[in-house]
Amino acid sequence: MLTRETVRPMPGEPTVPARVRELAERLGREGTALPAYIYDLDGLDAHAAAIRAALPSAVELCYAVKANPDPAVLRVVNRHANGLEIASGGELAHVTAAVPGARVTFGGPGKTPAELAAAIRQGVARFHVESPHELRLLGAAAAAADRTASVLLRVNLPFDASPGAAGDLVMGGGPTPFGMDPGLLDDCARWLASGSREAGAVELRGLHAHLASGLDAAAALAAASRVLDFARRWCASHGVRNPEVNLGGGMAVDYQHPRERFDWAAYGRGLGQAARHGETLRIEPGRAVTAYCGWYVTRVLDVKPSHGKTFAVLAGGTHHLRTPAAKGHDQPFAILPLAASATGENSETWPYDWPRPAMEPGRVTLVGQLCTPKDVLARDVQAPGLRAGDLVAFGMAGAYAWNISHHSFLMHPPPAFHYVGA
Ligand SMILES: *Cc1c(COP(=O)(O)O)cnc(C)c1O
Repeated sequence: MLTRETVRPMPGEPTVPARVRELAERLGREGTALPAYIYDLDGLDAHAAAIRAALPSAVELCYAVKANPDPAVLRVVNRHANGLEIASGGELAHVTAAVPGARVTFGGPGKTPAELAAAIRQGVARFHVESPHELRLLGAAAAAADRTASVLLRVNLPFDASPGAAGDLVMGGGPTPFGMDPGLLDDCARWLASGSREAGAVELRGLHAHLASGLDAAAALAAASRVLDFARRWCASHGVRNPEVNLGGGMAVDYQHPRERFDWAAYGRGLGQAARHGETLRIEPGRAVTAYCGWYVTRVLDVKPSHGKTFAVLAGGTHHLRTPAAKGHDQPFAILPLAASATGENSETWPYDWPRPAMEPGRVTLVGQLCTPKDVLARDVQAPGLRAGDLVAFGMAGAYAWNISHHSFLMHPPPAFHYVGA
């Protein structure tokens, strides 16, 4: 008797855009051209335009660069955004070079005096300040340069914004290194009122909150309304007129359902109802903007059974696409089978006199070339028949994918990068 498989939700299959598929198949024919990342800039352009169109005009859209800082991606996103949110001196230098003239906001913990000074020199539009100490460092840097730094204080409010799904990144609501408890905000306000030259070089514009990632529209609106309640009261009692409130990012991306999208229309409607005349609302999503435009395309090198399971070994792996390892999910994928003309055992793509390793339709674990059991891109997932030489196109690889991966582990060659559209 076979033991029953535990029922595991299967990721849906992403729709591979025609131009991505054509390029992937061409690269597949070139033998050594895979693995590769393909960025669908046309798809990204349309998606970013749709996000912008769903938001009320009074709501500003910034993009969190850490999700994917690829220069071509940044330039397309910036067409539809009011600015780019950076979180390091490295991102500052990169964005300044890649998208000259972009409006930049600077967030993230542990900003150094050198980073703050560089950001002041570059004319960063807003600083999201993470602590009273950082506020003083910023004031000193701005005063030394005879400039004024425009600031939102980042608050960590005591409520749980997360719907609690596994893999969510909770960044507020409890003890975290991010932002300030309300008491620390008050310390900042006291220092700003101190009358020192450094404090005078800081202009307080409002508050910032980024509490969690993985929020659906209803959860994001509920979090926004609590942040707004707090921010309006705090700003009014500290004399911040026409306040700005940055509501952060964290809009959900559902890796189980690659064809679904965050409900930007509902979110936009809700923000439209929440917004009040005279204040500026701003959001800074990352993942939900760029996840869908990226494809990691690779090739099946080998297929073999192991103790009742089937494994397909792919070129590349999680050192190129760490997302499934980082999030603990199965990366959605589509199989691009070998062209029928190339399936013969003695065709030019199969020069050997033994049969191609292959499997019948069924469950398979897709792994990479790394010598670690963690190098799994999708575990025990249903696949059509699969054979060495087939291509696998992993979707939703446009955010927190290449740029969070441990590229040099095992020293395999890096993927190539290709772009379709502009
Ligand atoms: C990471 C981050 C974002 C973007 O989060 P996503 O989940 O990618 O939307 C926005 N703001 C801050 C402060 C962040 O740290």
